[in-house]
Amino acid sequence: MKLFKCTQCENPVYFENTSCDRCKYQLGFEVNSMSLFAIKTEADGSYSLVKHDDVPNSGYRYCANHQYQVCNWLVAEGAKSDYCVACNLNRTIPDLAVDDNLRKWSKIEIAKHRLIYALLRFNLPVNRKTSDAVHGILFDFLADTEGQPRVLTGHANGLVTLNIAEADDIEREMMRKQMDEIYRTLLGHFRHEIGHYYWEVFFLDHPERLSLFRKIFGDERADYGESLQRHYEQGTPKDWEEHYISAYAAAHPWEDWAETWAHYLHMVGTLETAYAFGVTIDPLIHADKRGMSTRIDKDPYLEMDFEEIIGKWLPLTFAMNSLNRSMGLKDPYPFIITPSVLGKLQFIHNAIHQQWASV
Ligand SMILES: [Zn+2]
Ligand SMILES: [Zn+2]
Ligand SMILES: [Zn+2]
Repeated sequence: MKLFKCTQCENPVYFENTSCDRCKYQLGFEVNSMSLFAIKTEADGSYSLVKHDDVPNSGYRYCANHQYQVCNWLVAEGAKSDYCVACNLNRTIPDLAVDDNLRKWSKIEIAKHRLIYALLRFNLPVNRKTSDAVHGILFDFLADTEGQPRVLTGHANGLVTLNIAEADDIEREMMRKQMDEIYRTLLGHFRHEIGHYYWEVFFLDHPERLSLFRKIFGDERADYGESLQRHYEQGTPKDWEEHYISAYAAAHPWEDWAETWAHYLHMVGTLETAYAFGVTIDPLIHADKRGMSTRIDKDPYLEMDFEEIIGKWLPLTFAMNSLNRSMGLKDPYPFIITPSVLGKLQFIHNAIHQQWASV
């Protein structure tokens, strides 16, 4: 994520801020420029951007979800929808009459907006699924109902379903332990599930790409249901770390793709933040520093080739883990990237940068 400042008073502000703590101006995210702006109310009730030259700076509205304080994105004059490009993908939101659902939804939207930001930065198509469209995305945020089967978080045909219990830290942590996972977050769920969607966009109707995929990830025609059942009943092979970024990735080639895709998004999203802060890692230890020093001086969405991404990522993760340990927190990066996983990440990097989604 980029670092933003209030365009009225230059105060640094977060991506999610709806107003500036210092000058109290309202803030809105303008999607064409991917920037956050201080905004002013005009006589007709619309908003104009403070201090901006590149894009038309008047006639904006807030996304309709701003009324619930779950979205700070702006909608341009003349737009067809009352919702921003991120919220327009929602088909079902939690029942806000239920206690605590607004708080859960708010956390869900924070993660979802960060996902959509990344997809837009990668220039991936982000369109709402219409009933007849092969492609397109929709989100259902659903709660378990008594007497009904549990809502399963997952993806089918562009529809991403999220069980809103995942927005509760205690419930999610219980699920994490039960599933024996080392990492479980809302943002991770979104990155994973949308990976399934782009798999379809990239590979369905592209047999030549599919054969490349199968060489690296295995044959996805292996029965999906049986593979997952085997994964849950027999556990993962002992040497899974050699070949997979997570134990779950070993369940089926589709899950391997989605797990590795999510991981690539973790890397680029975090590297962008480090870039925004001008992070340089130059450890003071006298041991051989090779591979431990780096300057994160480029935009990982645009300017880094894959070797550079990895070269900057590994020292950064070591620093991140060390910082967290100093705060008495667990490692934010409990992963190991082996050569085999590296090849998969590189494949995903190439697929995104070769614009497979649009050709
Ligand atoms: Zn300000
Ligand atoms: Zn919105
Ligand atoms: Zn999956």
